[in-house]
Amino acid sequence: MQLSDIFGIGSKTIKHLNNLGIYNIEDLVTYYPYRYEIIKRSDLNSINDGDKVIIDGIIETIPNVNYYGKRKNSMNFRINTGARILVITIYNRAFLKNKIKVGNSIIVRGKYVGFNKIIASDIRFGVLSNNSKVEVIYHESGNITSKEINNYINRVLNNYNAKDYIPKYLRDKYNFITKIEALKEIHNPTSTSKLRMSINRLKYEELFVFMLKISRLKKGRNKTVGIKRYIDKSLVYNFINKLPFKLTSDQASSVKDIYNDLTSSNIMNRLIEGDVGSGKTIVAFIALYINYLSNYQGVLMAPTEVLAFQHFSNIKKYMSNIKIEILTGSTKSKDRCDILTRLKNKEIDILIGTHSLFSEDVIYNNLGLVITDEQHRFGVRERAALRNKGVAPDILYLSATPIPRTYALIIYGDMDISIINTVPSGKKKIITLLKKNSEIKDVLTMMFEELKSKHQIYVIAPLVEENDSNLMSVNDLCENMNKAFGKIAKTGNLYGKMSSKEKDEVMAKFKNKEIDILVSTTVIEVGVDMENATMIVIFDAERFGLSTLHQLRGRVGRNNLQSYCILVSDKDTERLKVMEKTSNGFEISEEDFRLRGSGDLFGIRQSGDMKFKLANIKRDYKLLLKAKEDSLEYLNMNL
Ligand code: ADP
Ligand code: MG
Repeated sequence: MQLSDIFGIGSKTIKHLNNLGIYNIEDLVTYYPYRYEIIKRSDLNSINDGDKVIIDGIIETIPNVNYYGKRKNSMNFRINTGARILVITIYNRAFLKNKIKVGNSIIVRGKYVGFNKIIASDIRFGVLSNNSKVEVIYHESGNITSKEINNYINRVLNNYNAKDYIPKYLRDKYNFITKIEALKEIHNPTSTSKLRMSINRLKYEELFVFMLKISRLKKGRNKTVGIKRYIDKSLVYNFINKLPFKLTSDQASSVKDIYNDLTSSNIMNRLIEGDVGSGKTIVAFIALYINYLSNYQGVLMAPTEVLAFQHFSNIKKYMSNIKIEILTGSTKSKDRCDILTRLKNKEIDILIGTHSLFSEDVIYNNLGLVITDEQHRFGVRERAALRNKGVAPDILYLSATPIPRTYALIIYGDMDISIINTVPSGKKKIITLLKKNSEIKDVLTMMFEELKSKHQIYVIAPLVEENDSNLMSVNDLCENMNKAFGKIAKTGNLYGKMSSKEKDEVMAKFKNKEIDILVSTTVIEVGVDMENATMIVIFDAERFGLSTLHQLRGRVGRNNLQSYCILVSDKDTERLKVMEKTSNGFEISEEDFRLRGSGDLFGIRQSGDMKFKLANIKRDYKLLLKAKEDSLEYLNMNL
C-alpha cells in the first residue's frame, strides 16, 4: 500500500505530505501529533477579559471588511450564542467573507476582550458538540489541516497491518498493548492513562530498534577477525618526534590506544572525542601513517569539501613521500577516473575526501583504515557502509561534539572511546561577549581594532530556513561590512549553495589574506583552521544551538593571539550567557541538553538515526537503558 492508495489523496496532497517528511504509509502512521487540545464550549458567565474562549453561535450580520497596509485586513461580524450577542473580529481572513452568511452556524476560537467582543484566531463552520472533545494537532503544511492528516491516518489504521518491532516475549514482559492499539490511541486518544501507555510503548519501540542496530554492529565486529599489523615502532616514534610540536598527554594516549588496536587482531572501532581545537587531526594523521607502514591503504573522510582540502594540504606537509590524493564530488571526471584506477592498483596510499570516497565505483586495493572526521554527521548506516569497502578495515571516528560520557557509552555502544580533554597549551582563552543589536557600534569598533592589527574576521550570517539559500542574508551582511570597512578591509562570502570550487577559491583567498572579513553561513562550522583569524561575530546567535556556537567559536583562537567571539542577539540571553561563562565543550553540551532537550545537543541533526519521533534520550533515559539491555539479550538469544 502506498500514499496514493488512500482514499482522497491525490498528487497535490502527496506533495504536501512529502513536505512534512511523509513518503510512505509507515511515515504517515508514525506522524505523531505534537499536541492535544481539549475542546469544550466556554461558559460565558464565568469568563474574564483576556481569557481564551471557544464558542459557537448563529451568524447575525454579513461581515464588514477593512483593508489596510500591505495585504492586511480585518473583518467584523455579529453572532448570537443563544444567551448573548457577540462581536467577532478576525484578521486577514477576508477570503472567507462570502462564506460567512447570516443564519449559518459558526465556531469561534479566540480571546475575549470584554464588552461582548472576541478577537478570533480561528473560525470554523458548524456547532460544538455538548461533550468536551479532544482535538489532535499535528504540524501542518501547505493546505492540509490537522483534521485532514488525522483523517488520512485513520483511513489507514482501519485496516493496517502494523509491523511490531518489539519481540513477543518483551511485549509480554512489559505488558505492552498491541502496536495497532497504540497507534490508534495516539491519533485518537480515549483516555489519559491509555494515551500514556501508548506513547510509552511507541517510545520504547523506537529506542529498542535503535539500540538493536547499535548492538548488532558491535556483535558483528567482535565476530570478525581484523587486520593484525606488524610495525617497526621506532618509525612511529620518529614521525612523532619530527612534528613541530609535542603531543599533549591526551593526544599521546589516544595514539597509544590506536596503536594497540591496529596491531591487535581485533577490528578497531574507536571514537576520538575531543573538544574543538584539541588537536584530533594530527592523531588521525598518525593513525594513517601507522596504517601506511603496514602497507594498507587508508582514507580520511570529511563532511565538507572545504575541510577535505584543508586536511589534504596539511597531511602532505607531514608525509611528503607518501602517495596521497583527494577525491570529492567536484573532482573532474578525468581526474576521478585516473584516481580510481590508481586506487585499485594500489598506486595511492592515502585518499582524503568527502562522501564520494564511498561511492559504489570506488574500489580499494586493500583498504585497512577508515577515518571519519566530525563523526556526528554520519549515521549508523554510513558507519556500516564504510566497513564494507574493505575486508575488515579498522575504523576511527573523530568527533568534536562532546557527549556526556554516560550517553556516549550507550549511543556509541558499538565503539571504544578515547577522550582528548586538554587543549594544547600556549593558547589564550577566547573572550566571548554578548551584544545587543543596539550595541552594534561597539561591535564594529572591536572589529575595526582587529582589522587594524591585520587580523582576520569571520562574520556568521543568521540562520535562514533549512534548505533555503542563505544567500540573501550573506549578501546583505557583506554589503554592510563593505559600507563599514570598505576602505581598510576586503570582504568575501561563503555559503552552502556555492560550488565547491568557488568555496575553495574563497577559502584560499582568506588563507592568503586577500580577504579580511569572511561573511559566511555555518559552512565554516566544522574544523576549518585559519590561524590569523582572531574574531568571529555571529548574528542572531539565538538561532543556533549552543553546541553549534561552540563549534563556530572554535574557528578562532587557533594560535597564541588573543581571540574574540561576539554573539549578537536580543533574545534568549540566559542560554547564550552559557557561552560567556565556559569554553568547555562538555559543559556546554550538558547545558544544551538541559535547556533544549536532546534536539541539537550532539549536533546530530544531520544523522537520521537519532531523530526519534517520540523518544528523547534525556527524558527517557531509563527507557533507553532498558532498551539497551533488552537489545543485547535479544541478540544473544538469537545467535
Ligand atoms: P580539532 O581537534 O578541532 O580538529 P585540530 O586538529 O584542527 O583541532 O588542531 C587545532 C590546532 O592545534 C592546529 O593548528 C594544530 O596544528 C594545533 N595542534 C595540534 N596538536 C598540538 C599540540 N600538541 N601542540 C600545539 N599545537 C597543536
Ligand atoms: Mg578537526
